[in-house]
Amino acid sequence: MNHPSGSSKRILVVEDEPRLAAVLCDYLKAAGYETERVADGLQVMETFHRWHPDLVLLDLMLPGVDGVDLCRALRTDSDVPVIMVTARVTEVDRLLGLEVGADDYICKPFSPREVVARVGTVLRRYRHGAVTAPKGLQIDEDGCRAALHGRWLDLTPVEFRLLRTLAGAPGRVWSRDQLMNHLYTDHRIVTDRTVDSHVKNLRRKLGEAGAEGDTIASIYGVGYRFDLE
Ligand code: CA
Repeated sequence: MNHPSGSSKRILVVEDEPRLAAVLCDYLKAAGYETERVADGLQVMETFHRWHPDLVLLDLMLPGVDGVDLCRALRTDSDVPVIMVTARVTEVDRLLGLEVGADDYICKPFSPREVVARVGTVLRRYRHGAVTAPKGLQIDEDGCRAALHGRWLDLTPVEFRLLRTLAGAPGRVWSRDQLMNHLYTDHRIVTDRTVDSHVKNLRRKLGEAGAEGDTIASIYGVGYRFDLE
C-alpha cells in the first residue's frame, strides 16, 4: 500500500445506514484504525483509489450498486481484503466463493466488537508490503525480485507477481481466475492452462532453491494454495 506500514491501518466502511456506519467507525477508531465512510456504492471505487484502504468493510445492500459487483470490482483492481456485511445468511457461500471472492463475512445484526475482532483477524492474514512473508522468503517489491534462504530466485515478471500474490496471503485458496486478475491487466487473453504452467514453473524454482514439500498445493476443482513453511 502507499502509506507507511507503521501508520495505523485504514478501514473503508461502505454502509448506507448512517447510524450503523457511525457506530462502526467509532469502534474501529477506538481500536486504533483510521476510517473513512462511504454511503453510496457509486463512490466506492473512487474513494478506494484515492485513499488506499488496507481493508474494505462492504455492505451487501447498497443504493447505486450491488455489493457483490463492488467486491468483484475491488478484486479485479487489487488484493485488498474485503469483509462483506450481509443480512442474508443464505448468501454467505456465494460471497466467500470464487465467484465473488470476499475474504470473510459478518451477518447483520452484529456487535461492533465482533466486527473489530474480525477486521483484526483478516488483516493479520494479509501482509501487505511485507518484506518477509513465509519463513525464508524475501520479497523485494521495488526490485521486482524475490529470494529464498538468501538466494535470489530467477523469476520471470509474471512468476514474481504470482509469488508476491500467493505469499501475501499464506494458506489462502486462490482460484485460477483470481490469480489471473493479479497477473495480467487483460486476463481474457489468458487461459487456465497458462496459470497452471506459471504455477508449475514457480513451484519448480522454489524447489530448486531449497523449499521443502509442496510449496503451491493444487486444490482439486478450485485452484491453488501457498503452503511454504
Ligand atoms: Ca444497506
